[in-house]
Amino acid sequence: MTTQYWDANTDPRDVIRWALAGYPDLLMTSAFNLNGVVLIELAAQAGFAGEVVFVDTGYHFPETLATRDHLITRYPQMQFVTLSADLPPEPWGEEQFRSDPDGCCRVRKVAPLREYLARKNPSALLNARSRDQAATRRDLGFVEIGERVRINPLAYWRREQIEAFAQAHHLPVNPLYWAGFKSIGCWPCTRAVRPGEDVRAGRWSGKGKIECGLWIGEQSL
Ligand code: SF4
Repeated sequence: MTTQYWDANTDPRDVIRWALAGYPDLLMTSAFNLNGVVLIELAAQAGFAGEVVFVDTGYHFPETLATRDHLITRYPQMQFVTLSADLPPEPWGEEQFRSDPDGCCRVRKVAPLREYLARKNPSALLNARSRDQAATRRDLGFVEIGERVRINPLAYWRREQIEAFAQAHHLPVNPLYWAGFKSIGCWPCTRAVRPGEDVRAGRWSGKGKIECGLWIGEQSL
């Protein structure tokens, strides 16, 4: 299938198969949110057996790390890679995430991934963003051309569709999701979302920040 026939109803597995054919060194990045877990299952069904790369900032919820461990067991055909900036969590009172969240994301999240990608140099990245996650993602397409090609198979899937797929396949969704944490990052920068809010409204709430920098801005991948 070629991209000229793609539309909002194109099956994400067809997008992944297309990506695997064109970019065999394709690498997936994931934070193991609901979308990420669903993308891993779809990728498995489409034949993906490459790396799934996660950045451990030192501030993840235990539930997130447990979700990663479940996925490692469930998908032995994939190589799960955990990167770390090797910075210990800061003592209370000196936290960079309070005074300079952009700088904190830059050193703890973006830098380890950029360094890893510079070494591996994959031609394309597979990731789980979707249009309905936030206003900043409303125009997301299946393919973005940038420093690297970025493939977004879930771009057009709605929240209800993603949840239904996860439940139908008994996927190990982070239990915090069902407690209202619709997008889960580091615990100091994540709260549950309120009715009517964007899925990502609980990220950096009140900090004037909407993205970690992996996907928009000067540091984007
Ligand atoms: S999400 Fe918060 S704690 Fe995590 S790296 Fe960014 S600023 Fe630091």
